[in-house]
Amino acid sequence: MTPHRISGQQRHRKASPVELNPVFVRPGESSEVPRMRIPRDESLPETAYQIVHDEAMLDGNARLNLATFVGTWMEDEANRLYLEAADKNMIDKDEYPRTAEIESRCATMLADLWHAPDPERAVGTSTIGSSEACMLAGLALKRRWQHARRAAGKPADRPNLVMSSAVQVCWEKFCNYWDVEMRQVPVSMEHKVLDGDGLDGYVDENTIGVVAILGVTYTGMYEPVARIAEALDRIQARTGLDVKIHVDGASGAMVAPFIQPELEWDFRVDRVVSINTSGHKYGLVYPGLGWIVWREAQCLPEDLVFRVSYLGGDMPTFALNFSRPGAQVLLQYYLFLRLGFTGYRRVQQTCSDVATYLAREIGSMPAFDLWNDGSDIPVFAWRLHRGHTENWTLHHLGDRLRMRGWLVPAYPMPADLEEITVQRVVVRNGFSRDMADAFLADLREEVGYLDSLDSPMPGIGHPQAFHH
Ligand SMILES: *Cc1c(COP(=O)(O)O)cnc(C)c1O
Repeated sequence: MTPHRISGQQRHRKASPVELNPVFVRPGESSEVPRMRIPRDESLPETAYQIVHDEAMLDGNARLNLATFVGTWMEDEANRLYLEAADKNMIDKDEYPRTAEIESRCATMLADLWHAPDPERAVGTSTIGSSEACMLAGLALKRRWQHARRAAGKPADRPNLVMSSAVQVCWEKFCNYWDVEMRQVPVSMEHKVLDGDGLDGYVDENTIGVVAILGVTYTGMYEPVARIAEALDRIQARTGLDVKIHVDGASGAMVAPFIQPELEWDFRVDRVVSINTSGHKYGLVYPGLGWIVWREAQCLPEDLVFRVSYLGGDMPTFALNFSRPGAQVLLQYYLFLRLGFTGYRRVQQTCSDVATYLAREIGSMPAFDLWNDGSDIPVFAWRLHRGHTENWTLHHLGDRLRMRGWLVPAYPMPADLEEITVQRVVVRNGFSRDMADAFLADLREEVGYLDSLDSPMPGIGHPQAFHH
């Protein structure tokens, strides 16, 4: 697979130029531009704008996309800030010291939100998303383990990382890119999430850490971090191995603190050394922002930290990329000020109410069985009720809904449950009760249509991977 695989449709049109609507062509301008080569000549700004604008307009309508977790709406003041800050480079701490200061304020605010024992002593950074944050978390775990092994005169060449089989694809990338053995604990009907059961079969002296997911991507369910920690306590009592936890809170770390404040999943659990989240998911910022915070400076090995020049001194940084946009960090700070704790709670509670309402309604339809009820993060999944029909699958239903503009993916569950297909809805800020009712009406109609068929739909079952 190449990073830019060309779709059938693109291949068909590859040779043909992009044509301009004659209305937009200025005198003397060409009425077409090459599709796959940089054009030889300049275009007028309006013309270039029109071409890009028109093509991007054909992207899906984000409001009807019930598949993505990523923020797609911000208010006008945020949009204004975004434009004003579009030129800021996050790495340039010297040139943009206030942006750097705001970044570290935000990281401290998150350390506080996640109950770091001393938020001022926690360390954290913004990233381009949770994927980068997870890479940094994994690297810190790996390096700490290597130092400890070498100090003990033991080999440090076969690290492994323990996680559920339902992890997001970024953890497969981490293990692949950084030569760490991925040990996946399979999910099952009895253990729908990693819950500590059977963990001793996976953890050994080469384990650099355990990943716990707060808001599993497949279903939205929380993994019980405290119970996983207790299982690791028992392993330590028996074997002496002190294995730490990283919490992948891409979604949940910006939900649980506001609407399930009593749930202990964060730095209140002693074994948790680091937590990541996606500022662009339930942090409510546009795409391009993640965060990671370590409980305290010792959790992040000093030899991973680089120094960049900052106001004549130097500032520690830990990141994969060098240059990256700074605007999203300012937008996160804007939202912390704009919404405050109460505002975030209101937004997340509204999403949660819509999700649990939708789940109840869908669960009451005879065609479906709920996988979970949307009460962790505002995300839930359902499967086709066994024996309901031989004529259609959730993939067909997904296709029918797509005809009405709704994007609701159907996909197989991970290893060991892969024969089970689920369909998932992600409720985000802006998905109102009204829209939920419109969606339910369309869903009922399409199920009615599929149920009225007297022979099977063609191509029962298209296997398909899904990585959101
Ligand atoms: C979305 C997600 C990621 C990846 O986050 P990005 O911000 O898209 O890079 C990692 N882990 C989980 C659990 C996620 O849901």
